[in-house]
Amino acid sequence: MPTTNAYTYTRVLMGSPIFLKLFVDNPPLVEEVYARIGELEDQLTVNRAHSEVMDINHAAGKHPVSVSPALFQLIKRATEVSLLAGSCFNLTIGPLVKRWKIGFQGHTVPPQEAIDALLPLTDPHQLVLDASNHSVFLPHAGMEIDLGAIAKGYIADVIKNLLYQRGVYHAIINLGGNVQTLGRPQNGPNQQWAVGLQKPFGDNGELIGIIHVVNKSVVTSGIYERYFVADDKLYHHILHPRTGYPLDNELFSVTIISDASIDGDIYTTLLYGMGVEKGREYLQAYPHIEAIFVTRDNKVIFSSDKQFTFTLLDNSYQLAG
Ligand code: FAD
Ligand code: MG
Repeated sequence: MPTTNAYTYTRVLMGSPIFLKLFVDNPPLVEEVYARIGELEDQLTVNRAHSEVMDINHAAGKHPVSVSPALFQLIKRATEVSLLAGSCFNLTIGPLVKRWKIGFQGHTVPPQEAIDALLPLTDPHQLVLDASNHSVFLPHAGMEIDLGAIAKGYIADVIKNLLYQRGVYHAIINLGGNVQTLGRPQNGPNQQWAVGLQKPFGDNGELIGIIHVVNKSVVTSGIYERYFVADDKLYHHILHPRTGYPLDNELFSVTIISDASIDGDIYTTLLYGMGVEKGREYLQAYPHIEAIFVTRDNKVIFSSDKQFTFTLLDNSYQLAG
């Protein structure tokens, strides 16, 4: 079997280490990849005063803002998912995310009155999209779009396409938990990508097991990456759109295996909100999207496993059907 050298890179963007592995020595391409991610961060971030998304947020209650076609499509997709019946995905969750600051300096448990006052500003039905001029309008001052639950997946797919355009068909990119793989690895014994399933609250790099895939996206959302503890209670960063508090259920994490990473990012958040039973039922209609649920009672549950194989490393976890 031919073995090729691997070239690996890590840079911090979007508050996350962004890992890239190629099997060609192509420094200009590496620069192009990180520059493209930087451009997309500049466009999509809500953690700085200015970005295309912040232009929409600053105009809340004032006027619609025309955005680039790609951003309009991303917002349209995020809106559709937010408007699904019972959805826990909500792209207009921004005011609550900003108030809690989970994962950022200054996190606090807001008083109930503050949450009650912000909830009406997080109704995705109020968002006004106009396809004729790609405009987005938040009709009330204080409303804010937050694409944190979808943007990394979108970016991972953009980078996959960029690499294809440059003739690269074997690579892996990890945007802080959003992994996108191209083809097969060109070195190592088994010709599959090995993506670690993190042990919740374990040391960095401690794994429950390994997910083996070829040419798939593997995205994980969990409660153990961004959280804080106050009065012995853990507050994590996936908020329930109807209570305004972190979603409370039986799950530590959800991992999605799919072709498009944007689907992975959407479904991790959506299925986290559904929990195991509803989530598995829901996925029956989407055979190309598979989930791995990790529960608080140490079970690892697959919705199905046609697109990956799994090696369990930690025997305190049980594979459960
Ligand atoms: P997911 O589960 O996919 O998403 C959770 C995130 O989505 C939350 O952090 C919140 O932002 C939002 N959210 C919470 N509840 C819901 C809900 N019910 N529905 C929809 N969305 C919800 N981190 C930094 O520390 N510093 C930075 O400067 C920074 N800049 C960023 C810039 C960009 C463009 C992006 C995409 C991310 C950035 N981040 C930054 C990380 C960001 O704050 C989130 O932590 C990250 O996007 C969460 O992704 P995830 O896949 O881990 O979680
Ligand atoms: Mg997500």
